[in-house]
Amino acid sequence: MTLNSPRRALEQLQPYSGEMPEGKLMLAANESPYNLPESVLRQLKDGIEDFDFNRYPDPLGQKLRKQIADANGVDADCVLIGNGGDELLLDIMLAWGGSDSSGPNNERRTMMQFTPTFSMYRIYAEALETRILSVPRNPDTLQIDVEQAVQCLQDNQVNLCFIDNPNNPTGQMTYEEDLCRIIEASDALVVVDEAYFEFSGQTMLKYLDKYPNMVILRTFSKAYSLAGLRLGYVLAQPEIIDMLARVRMPYSVNAFTQWAGSLVMDNVTEFDQAIADIIKEREWLYEVLQDMPNVEVWSSQANYLLFRLNKAKEVWQRLLDAHDIYIRDFSSASGLKNCLRVTVGTSKQNIAFTTALRESIAQVNLPDNFFSG
Ligand code: PMP
Repeated sequence: MTLNSPRRALEQLQPYSGEMPEGKLMLAANESPYNLPESVLRQLKDGIEDFDFNRYPDPLGQKLRKQIADANGVDADCVLIGNGGDELLLDIMLAWGGSDSSGPNNERRTMMQFTPTFSMYRIYAEALETRILSVPRNPDTLQIDVEQAVQCLQDNQVNLCFIDNPNNPTGQMTYEEDLCRIIEASDALVVVDEAYFEFSGQTMLKYLDKYPNMVILRTFSKAYSLAGLRLGYVLAQPEIIDMLARVRMPYSVNAFTQWAGSLVMDNVTEFDQAIADIIKEREWLYEVLQDMPNVEVWSSQANYLLFRLNKAKEVWQRLLDAHDIYIRDFSSASGLKNCLRVTVGTSKQNIAFTTALRESIAQVNLPDNFFSG
């Protein structure tokens, strides 16, 4: 180590893998397959010349904040917007993770998660030298073992707990009663990550008053077609929002994104059909995958499906090389051996994917001597 070396915590840190190969059918990042509705695009086009690009944005995005608050039936001071849910997860880690060097024992703080789950929880925790307590999900059902979770919260000094619901990359829900038990098990701040809630229809919103230790995270990146503009928000009691506001970047959500987000909120019902179509397509895709021999697929409440098959890595590679289809490879991730995850696309895209998958499985499983014999 020299004085100009970065912090040691970064030496082992595996960054988020967000590759984007060009010219491929992208079914890897759980985005919406649909662009913004015509009405929103038209208003953006019509307003662009009068837009004050020269001005800083409103730091807290008060207009959009109020719209989000109204849509969720809460006060504006229960909402904080961020540059994607990713920024808000970092803010949460900055405020509740890391270490308490001014405390009596110079203690590292503890974060708990239920693995396999969304990798940014771990990445931010490692970057800030937060202690990580990973409680594995049941290897077959991929569900959280609630008894174990409660026990673990009671036995350890957990400061912060992430529950992804539905869970990425597995698609499973943790049910409301179980979430309540986990939230009530200790004083830990429990973040219920509802990035995909528009597809599951289940939310912990009604418990916002009851639980001062709960945060709900949402995003405009999935159901609302805004992944490219980066917009997410949290819902929590004002005391928590106040803490997050202390660590956040002042102008993190740019003015254009605030404007687009606001137009999305004004036209939110225009997304209903797209959401319904994605759910319908998810069920179609699930059936098709379930009918494929030697493919094991988990049911999902989100806009992606996780499935397991032999020679997953080779199948993944063939989908990319021979069919220009890019899905997410989890085949060597811990707890996800031979698993791949596909984002639900349009009907046409899903047909292209399943056709290509059938071909790729057959091709990869050809006996070595198939042509010589
Ligand atoms: N949480 C989960 C579970 C996610 O899958 C994602 C997106 N991959 C996010 C949060 C963050 O989304 P964004 O930063 O695009 O709002």
